[in-house]
This record gives sequence, structure tokens and C-alpha cells, in this order.
Amino acid sequence: MEHPRQTVLIVDDSLFNIQIIADILKEDCAVVTARNGVDALRIASSEPHPDLILLDILMPNMDGYEVCRRIKAKEETKDIPIIYLTGMNNEQDEEYGLSLGAIDYITKPFKPSILKARVKNHLQLKYFRDCLTKMGMADGLTGIPNRRRFDETMSVEWRRATRSGQPLSLIMTDIDYFKNYNDTYGHLEGDECLRKVAIKLCKTLKRPGDLVGRWGGEEFACILPETDSIGAMIVAEQLRTGIIDLAIPHISSPIAPVITISLGVTTITPKPGQDPLELIKRSDEALYKAKRAGRNQIGLASEEQSFS
Ligand code: GH3
Ligand code: MG
Ligand code: MG
Repeated sequence: MEHPRQTVLIVDDSLFNIQIIADILKEDCAVVTARNGVDALRIASSEPHPDLILLDILMPNMDGYEVCRRIKAKEETKDIPIIYLTGMNNEQDEEYGLSLGAIDYITKPFKPSILKARVKNHLQLKYFRDCLTKMGMADGLTGIPNRRRFDETMSVEWRRATRSGQPLSLIMTDIDYFKNYNDTYGHLEGDECLRKVAIKLCKTLKRPGDLVGRWGGEEFACILPETDSIGAMIVAEQLRTGIIDLAIPHISSPIAPVITISLGVTTITPKPGQDPLELIKRSDEALYKAKRAGRNQIGLASEEQSFS
């Protein structure tokens, strides 16, 4: 089965070993290398993450067990499969290594063809799992990130903002009079409208860290990392006018001849102990304000309610 070239990280303190292993694997995958545990951890955590790690156990300073333990303890690296490739060939070592979360254990000296085959099998499994994860993270109707993906991104960005002291903004948005739209044009047209709106929202957000998710029904949520309230207002206004520009006819809307959205904007600089749910709640309230004020507009979380 054809799939994009995957990357294997080879960790071994011996350059000689690294070269032999790399030679065996280079036909099937891209190879990156590390000669100690610290480098291995750094490479494993940087994006794009390696698809598989081949890990020596006996290394100076930090041994392979410790490298494995740390990789498995970190959210962004815990799903990278690890195979030990080691001269330690007794049963207890192997059992202990596997108990730390590695998927396989190959002892040196190894047969090149067997190493090649095992790595290939594990890469194949990794590929299938990535596909499933991707599918589970996309909204079935619109193809944009779903609620689960939104929640994951929010928790990552929340922690990042807490560490960096940077503001984090959230825009909640909801299509105006969408029930009327469905009633007038039918549910299938309604679905088509949701797709167009979702794609437009995604295209309007320009920064690589921004994320638009389908929150549910005809509601969408945009995460804007490192964005202050002025920046968030500018983006919200671009979203609002962008949807009007789509010019999707909506004859049963009391406020405009086309599909419009209302938006609620909140910006906070999270402090340790605070919860992303607060950000969501405030944005929801701001959205509700925009609805009450007549729709097709932006609501702001009120000052006294905002964090700082
Ligand atoms: P408001 O301006 O206050 O937001 O009014 P509204 O009619 O948009 O809001 P309401 O919550 O009353 O109705 C939302 C509608 O969205 C009702 C529901 O049928 C429709 N909807 C939710 N999910 C889907 C979907 O996946 N496809 C379609 N076609 N319609 C959906
Ligand atoms: Mg609505
Ligand atoms: Mg709604």
C-alpha cells in the first residue's frame, strides 16, 4: 500500500551501529539519528514527530529505559512506537523494557532482513493508526476539526499560553436563523451551507496555529493562540464579512437576504489554576449578547467578567 515516506529515529551511542542500521532501513523510510538520550528526546518531541524509534538501551548518561519512560510520559510523544535494539538479551531486561511501553525488543546481533521486516510491519501499523486518528478528529459533514480535536487543541494551547504568558483568544460563532434556512431550503441544502461556511471560516484564519472546529450543529469555534483582543476583533470582523461575501441566499432570514453569523469573542491570558472552560463559557455569553443585540454582529465578553 502506498503511503507517504515515514521517518525512523535511530538512537545509539555507537556511530558504527547507527550506520549499519541506517543502511538497512534507508530503502523503506527516512532516517534521523541521535547518539544520546537527550538528543533523542529533543528529536522525538519536535514536529514532525518520528513515526518509530529504534532505541539502544546501554548508553552513557541516560539509558534507553529512561528515554522510553520519558517519551511515554509526554502527551505529544506517547504514541510514537518504540523498538529496543540492544545487546542485552536476557528475559528480565526484555520484560522490563516492554513494561515501560515499548512495542518490540530486538537483540543484537540481529539479522538485517529480520530488522527490516519488523520495522516495516510496525511502520505499516503506525500508518493505519494515524489514518484512524485523523478520521476520528475530523467532522464527518464538513471535514474540519471536530469537537474532540478542538478540545485537544484547546488544552494544548491553554497550557502553552499559561507558560508563555501570551494571550489566547476564542471566537464562538453561530449561523443566524439557521432553522429557518433548513425549513425553507431543506436539510440537504442546510448541510451544503454548513460545509461552505466551515470552509470559509478555515480559509479566513491565516496563521498556522489557528484552528476552527465544528462545535456542534451550526456552531463553530476558533482558537487564536498568541492573539490579543484587538487582533481577535479584527479576525472576528473578517469572519463576519467573509460569510456575507459567500452570498448564500437566505430569503427567510429577518435580518439579511443572505446567510450571516453572530460571534462572541473572549481573550484571556491564562493563569495557573484557571480552566479553559471559563474561556468557552465567556465566549458563549458574548455570542448570546450578539444574538440578543440583533445578530450578524460581534459580542465581546464584558470587561469586569474577563480575566487579567
Ligand atoms: P439563531 O439565530 O438564534 O441562532 O437561530 P437558529 O435558527 O440558527 O438556531 P436554532 O438553535 O433554533 O436552530 C439551529 C438549527 O440548526 C436547527 C437544526 O435543525 C440545524 N442544524 C443543526 N445541525 C445541523 C446539520 O448538521 N445539518 C443541517 N442541515 N442542519 C443542522
Ligand atoms: Mg443559529
Ligand atoms: Mg445554535
